[in-house]
Amino acid sequence: MKKNNAKLIIFTGPSGVGKGTILSDFFKKADNNIVYSISNTTRKPRDGEINGMHYYFISKDEFENLIKQDAFLEYATYSGNYYGTNKKFVDEKIKEGKSVLLEIELQGALNVMKKRPDAVTIFIKPPTFEELEKRLRGRHSESEESIKKRLETAKEELKHTDKFHYVIENDKVEKAVDELIEIYNRETKSNV
Ligand code: 5GP
Repeated sequence: MKKNNAKLIIFTGPSGVGKGTILSDFFKKADNNIVYSISNTTRKPRDGEINGMHYYFISKDEFENLIKQDAFLEYATYSGNYYGTNKKFVDEKIKEGKSVLLEIELQGALNVMKKRPDAVTIFIKPPTFEELEKRLRGRHSESEESIKKRLETAKEELKHTDKFHYVIENDKVEKAVDELIEIYNRETKSNV
């Protein structure tokens, strides 16, 4: 029989690399012992994004109040907006025996690694930087200024892949999803 060990899983990678697509397929294939942590952000919703599903979209004042209340496991500013992980949600789910997946940028990931050294850390990288730029532009969801900022940040993020337990290259989505499933099973299931 397999025993389930709840783990905190950090999933990081540059904007445009395809994290959203990978995760949406991953959650369709994974068992129900893992949940996605819905972050708070001050960024405006994109077309099709739903409050309470993709993010909790809140104001800067609301976000800063939550910082004062120590409600975040981590938070960071990214491309001029705040993003943060709800500490209570993470702790409650882990206590219930569920693994929790955080999809967060590098600074937040490094902060969580310090606070929760037992977290499993995964970095998702593009096949090449040129391919990343192509994907980011192909999304048509950002202004030129935002694309430039995201590419600059990506360059920095890609220098830190060695700090992660696992690096997955997103060349083919299906393959990346299979790798993620394999890591999840290896890290959370043990024989009893
Ligand atoms: P986007 O605006 O494209 O949805 O997200 C921008 C970046 O913020 C992505 O790299 C995403 O992983 C990251 N992000 C989303 N939620 C959080 C969070 O709660 N904390 C941190 N540190 N980063 C986050």
